[in-house]
Amino acid sequence: MDLNLQPLALPGIDDMKRPLVIAGPCSAETEEQVISTARLLAACGIRIFRAGIWKPRTKPGGFEGIGKEGLPWLRRVHDELGLLTATEVANAAHVEAALEAGVDILWIGARTMANPFAVQEVADALKGHDVPVLLKNPVNPDLELWIGGIERINQAGITRLAVIHRGFSTYEQRLYRNLPMWHVPIELRRRIPALPIICDPSHIGGRRELIAPLAQQAMDLGFDGLIIESHCNPDAAWSDAKQQVTPDVLDFILDKLVIRDGVQTSESLETLRKQIDTLDNDILELLTKRMRVSREIGQYKKQHNMTVVQTHRYGEILTKRGAQGVLNGMSDEFVRRVFEAIHEESVRQQVEIMNQ
Ligand code: PEP
Ligand code: MN
Repeated sequence: MDLNLQPLALPGIDDMKRPLVIAGPCSAETEEQVISTARLLAACGIRIFRAGIWKPRTKPGGFEGIGKEGLPWLRRVHDELGLLTATEVANAAHVEAALEAGVDILWIGARTMANPFAVQEVADALKGHDVPVLLKNPVNPDLELWIGGIERINQAGITRLAVIHRGFSTYEQRLYRNLPMWHVPIELRRRIPALPIICDPSHIGGRRELIAPLAQQAMDLGFDGLIIESHCNPDAAWSDAKQQVTPDVLDFILDKLVIRDGVQTSESLETLRKQIDTLDNDILELLTKRMRVSREIGQYKKQHNMTVVQTHRYGEILTKRGAQGVLNGMSDEFVRRVFEAIHEESVRQQVEIMNQ
C-alpha cells in the first residue's frame, strides 16, 4: 500500500533517555485540574499534554466530557507552559473546534476507529490542515480495519501519522481491561515499518499497577512512545480513575524504564527474540483456552454417554487445518503434526473427565 508519511517531528523527553511520552488526564474536568496537572507534568519534563474534551462513554448518563468549554484551558497549557496539546476527535465538529482552538495534535479513539463512516468524516474535515494525527487501534482486533483507517486519514493529506496500541475489548474481563494481543501491532509494524507505534498502557491495563510492566514490554518490543493517563488527583478523576497516576508516579515509572540499545530497528536480534517470546506466550494462552473448551466437550460427552474420540470429526479437523496451514506457507505435514499433538492432549484431558 502506498502511504505518504513524513516524520512526526514531535519532541521527546528532555534528556532523550526516555521515549516520546504523551501524558495528561483521561478527561479535562476543570480549568484548575488541567492547569495544575499540566504544570506538574511539565516539571517532570513531559512535553506533550493529553486531555479528552469529548469522551465516548459506554453508557449514557456518565460524564461525557466538558466539551468546547475546555478548549481554552488547553490553549493556556500551550501558551503558558509551552507544552504541545493533544485531544480526541470523533466527528467533523470536533476537528473544526479543536483546530480553531489551536490544539497541536489530534487522536482518533478506538470506538471511532471501528467505524469507517466516522473515520471518513474526520478525514474529510482534516483536508487542507497539517496536523499530526494519532490513530488508536479499533476496539476489535481487526488489523485491516486499522490499516483502512490509516489509509483514509493519509489520503486526506495528513502525513504526520502515528498509531496508538491500546489493546482490544473482550467479553471476559480478566487481568487486562483490553487484551494487548501484541502480535497485532507487531504485524502492523511489519506491514508499515515507517509508522511510529505508541503504546497506551493505561487503557490496556485499566489499572495503575499494570502501567509500568506494560510500558516496559512496549519498549522491549521496540515501540516508539507511550501515552499515559496522569491526573493531579487520580482517585477523584471523573473518568478512568483506576488507571490514572499522579505526575510524580509517572516520573518514577519513566525513570525505571529500561530503554535498550537498538530497539528502534525491528531487525535487532533482541527485539525479534522478544517478539518470539510474546508470540509463544500467545500460543500457550490459546492452547489453554482450547483445552478448556475440550474439557467442556468432555463433560457433554460424559453426560450423553458418547465416546471420547469421534473419528469423523477428528479426520475433518486434520484435513481442514492442514489446508489452512498450506495457504499460510507451512507444510501440510507440519500442521497435521501440530494438530495431532493438540488432539492427543485434548483426548487425554477428556478421558480424565470420563474417569472422574
Ligand atoms: C482515552 O484515551 O481516554 C480513550 C477514550 O481511549 P480509547 O479510545 O483507547 O478507549
Ligand atoms: Mn481514558
